[in-house]
Amino acid sequence: MRTRVDADKCQGHAVCNRFAPGVFKLRDEDGRAYVESEGVPAEFEEQAKRAALSCPEQAIELDP
Ligand code: SF4
Repeated sequence: MRTRVDADKCQGHAVCNRFAPGVFKLRDEDGRAYVESEGVPAEFEEQAKRAALSCPEQAIELDP
């Protein structure tokens, strides 16, 4: 599975980081989310899916 955060949509709610801190990191400067690597480790896939569903801005894209 691969994931990315749409920087134009992300508003820094940090929900993604609470659900999947190993996948979605928050920038110090503005609190918006990013991924260090687009590839999601298998053990974090469920967390990443939950984060994507919970993002208020639908800023998280997931590719199976
Ligand atoms: S939950 Fe969505 S809008 Fe909030 S920081 Fe994460 S990606 Fe951005």
